[in-house]
Amino acid sequence: MPIVRPSRTPAAERSGEASSPLAGRLSNDASTEARLPEHPPIIDEAVLEVVRGYWGFDSLRPLQARAIEAGLKQQDSLLVLPTGGGKSLCYQVPPLIANRTDVVVSPLISLMNDQIAALEAVGYPAAALHGNLSAEERRGVVSRLRAGNLRLLFVAPERLQSPALLDLLERAGVKVFAIDEAHCISHWGHDFRPEYRRLSVLKDRFPGASLHAFTATATPRVREDIVRELRLVDPNVMVGRFDRQNLVYRVVPRVDPRRQVLEVLDRHQGEAVIIYCVSRKETERLCSYLVDRGRSAIHYHAGMEADERRAAQERFAREQVDIVVATVAFGMGIDRSNVRCVIHAAMPKSVEAYQQETGRAGRDGLEAECVLFYSPADTQKWEALARRSVEEAGASEEVLHSHLELLRHMRRFCESQTCRHELLSEHFGQSLDGDNCGACDVCLGEVEGLEEATETAQKILSCVARVEQRFGVGHVTDVLVGATTQNIQRLGHDRLSTHGLLAKVDRKSVMNLVYQMVDQGLLDRVGDDRPILRLNAASWEVMRGRREVLLRPPRSRKAVKRSRAESDSWEGVDQGLFDSLRDLRRRLAVERGVPPYVVFHDSTLREMARLQPTTVGELRLIKGIGDKKMADYGDAFLELIRASQN
Ligand code: ADP
Ligand code: ZN
Repeated sequence: MPIVRPSRTPAAERSGEASSPLAGRLSNDASTEARLPEHPPIIDEAVLEVVRGYWGFDSLRPLQARAIEAGLKQQDSLLVLPTGGGKSLCYQVPPLIANRTDVVVSPLISLMNDQIAALEAVGYPAAALHGNLSAEERRGVVSRLRAGNLRLLFVAPERLQSPALLDLLERAGVKVFAIDEAHCISHWGHDFRPEYRRLSVLKDRFPGASLHAFTATATPRVREDIVRELRLVDPNVMVGRFDRQNLVYRVVPRVDPRRQVLEVLDRHQGEAVIIYCVSRKETERLCSYLVDRGRSAIHYHAGMEADERRAAQERFAREQVDIVVATVAFGMGIDRSNVRCVIHAAMPKSVEAYQQETGRAGRDGLEAECVLFYSPADTQKWEALARRSVEEAGASEEVLHSHLELLRHMRRFCESQTCRHELLSEHFGQSLDGDNCGACDVCLGEVEGLEEATETAQKILSCVARVEQRFGVGHVTDVLVGATTQNIQRLGHDRLSTHGLLAKVDRKSVMNLVYQMVDQGLLDRVGDDRPILRLNAASWEVMRGRREVLLRPPRSRKAVKRSRAESDSWEGVDQGLFDSLRDLRRRLAVERGVPPYVVFHDSTLREMARLQPTTVGELRLIKGIGDKKMADYGDAFLELIRASQN
């Protein structure tokens, strides 16, 4: 496996590319490669012509150029790029240039349909063969394939078991297979699909064909599995940068989740937001809370009927609803590229899951915000769940151990006061340049320590001692805030010296502080059924004044700052015009029965609202407008822009 070595040199200055005549055309976008190329990719003018004509992009990202080259040379390859890195272009371009039909293996029908809609919108001949087609539709696709009129044919992996289909592909002269979401082949991925395992037959059935795998999953183990299972021969393995510079990460202590969620939503009015909850029930509850407060929200989880789920996805994709409150079941197949915010109502169970879920934000490369509401109690909840599920499944200690290890990493991410981008990159074996990312709560200076944390910790600990280490978090908190519950009165705990010691702090905040201490090992929480708080050696050190404590204030008064990406991408943009352009896009999308992002991405609209082109020539300079879209939509958008200037 290649070792990823970050470079401090900007992409254009790196070896190889600078000497290429097209070096200037290789854009230095989000997916800037981390590995040095051995030689400049042979990308000629014909490729750029196609990219401009169909998609309206004037350059390729560095790894795109290399991946397209592999597709043209028919050298087996694996491209690992984060979501939004631009993988699809890599298998879309070669068959156009080589005038052949390539096959794309894709795990979900909804994914295929989205891709085909987007391809049709740029005038690209593509179709899919899957179980949901009528006999007539199927015949139509087959005859286009036979006539050599398709550049891409999408198929589900299980279809490739069918001898009839394999014969058909052979007769159509298919020589190249692209495997999308290739991590589905690995047990170590988060989306294992047994059907993907059978793709190993491809190399037998099509001995001369090349295979090109694509994934956003970063771990070396998954990469190794992909190469082995697909039996790639001398593959060109290309690994991009995982850091998503356009995302702002924030980890916020969870005190009053509903109010806190509303606060974040206020920053994203009229924009697409995904809120992840742990349980199905929570998604429904939070969703109806939001709807009651006038937000445009729906819920989504695996317990819903298939058509209910499909309808929910479609409403979100078509911008008929802004907010989806979902479990992790809401994921793959969500192609809406302008998700501006992903909220985690609780800590996810691994950094991998977190990266995957936040990956759905800002796929169009524009700024987006990821907020995780964290309570130290989350770790304990997940731990208990892991223990139970391992026990029920009769799995080994080892399995439990690996669950706990994943949790430990995630918890460290939440509690650390180190740059979040840096931590995420390091987790995936890459390091970041520079000191301040300007795009996380730590670097933006939003994270603060609680004043007098050690004194507060001592008060909490002495209260645990006073109630003789026989009570749980709830009761200890009640005593500290000076409550007079029945229990407290009955036990005479209102007469304790620690009763009301933290009366100035609200109950939820005190509870959060207690959990922070448990999580830092400054206090034990023992017993499965009704856990109680116990002092340990560390507690005594704190109480004796031999140990300093750091706690985060549960309710931070620090204001949220604008990230660099956010200021940059709104620079010079007329927001009112941007909103009108969005409305126009929505109307056109409804007319044509496609999701709005198929008409134009937000990044294209923002550029329009910045440059405000009034002629065809000026409009053509904007990224994301190829020949067909120019012909289909150019006039309507120009008219709106001109009208806005009068
Ligand atoms: P992935 O499949 O890796 O998640 P996509 O292929 O969906 O990524 O591309 C992500 C976004 O980047 C899309 O909005 C796409 O239009 C845009 N994009 C891809 N390649 C380029 C390029 N060379 N120049 C500008 N934008 C690009
Ligand atoms: Zn940072």
